[in-house]
Amino acid sequence: MKYPKVKRTFCPSCRKHTEHEVVKVKKKQASELSEGQRRFRRKLKGYGSFPRAKPDRSKPTKKVALLLRCKVCGKSHSIKGFRVKRFELVEV
Ligand SMILES: [Zn+2]
Repeated sequence: MKYPKVKRTFCPSCRKHTEHEVVKVKKKQASELSEGQRRFRRKLKGYGSFPRAKPDRSKPTKKVALLLRCKVCGKSHSIKGFRVKRFELVEV
């Protein structure tokens, strides 16, 4: 899917339509320091309730997360992600 690099859309801080810069958000690696991640690792190791199955990765595509940065106020907000096989930002 081709998506424009610059998009005119509603800015919640300016409360009107402005030009927005589109940025693709890369998924952050889960921090090994957080309690939830440590608990998850421990759980995967097993013993408590048998080695648990690896998390299911059955979906063929990943969701694309986009961030829109307003060119007027500089604030950014995210929009609802969608699933596509291929994603690229193009100049219009
Ligand atoms: Zn704005």
